[in-house]
Amino acid sequence: MGIAENLAQVKDSIAAAAQEAERQPSDIDLVAVSKVHTAETVREALVAGHRIFGENRVQEAQGKWPALQEEFDGVQLHLIGSLQTNKAKDAVALFDVIETVDRPKLARALATEMEKQGKTLDIYLQINTGEEDQKGGCLPKDADEFIRLCRDELKLSVKGLMCIPPADEEPSMHFAFLREIAKRNNLSCLSMGMSGDYEAAIRFGATSVRVGTAVFGTRPPKQDA
Ligand SMILES: *Cc1c(COP(=O)(O)O)cnc(C)c1O
Repeated sequence: MGIAENLAQVKDSIAAAAQEAERQPSDIDLVAVSKVHTAETVREALVAGHRIFGENRVQEAQGKWPALQEEFDGVQLHLIGSLQTNKAKDAVALFDVIETVDRPKLARALATEMEKQGKTLDIYLQINTGEEDQKGGCLPKDADEFIRLCRDELKLSVKGLMCIPPADEEPSMHFAFLREIAKRNNLSCLSMGMSGDYEAAIRFGATSVRVGTAVFGTRPPKQDA
């Protein structure tokens, strides 16, 4: 199947899951995760009318996106991979949304860069709901204080929270946990759910799902991150 068909199918599934949860399909954004895929492949999704994309590496996105952003209006590019502080400048210049803000040092670097570049990006704070050592994200116990720092002190435009559940656990409890942290902090957006579990994420309140494989097909395993 082609990418346009895949997109249509995923959007149908999102709509069905939303309806089942008595939510509006239009309240859920589809972030098409184009990491590793070529500009040619991404162009197919753009031609099909899709505009919201996710990439996990700044350098890869820099090679692929500026020309596509020239060619297509209204692209909204999300960074969904971990960000090093020394890449904050490049990330602010290229992306529209950063979903992986997970520590004070990075939050401060982003605030400084946005001010310098006169650009306000929406951000999500990534929460390491499974407390995995190898994964980025603020620990749940530090989440309230980190949200306060980003939103109230640094005046960042915090849209909501993002999580990547542990691969070997039932994702739903992580989705529920993320929703809980967002709710008690009055944050309305939740970026959660990938190809294998976005319908479940929608049942737990996802407002944004990040779907790669179901849109673009399987990625070459070696470069996958
Ligand atoms: C790659 C990636 C996705 C998409 O995963 P699929 O299983 O291919 O849908 C979603 N979120 C993050 C953070 C990713 O790195």
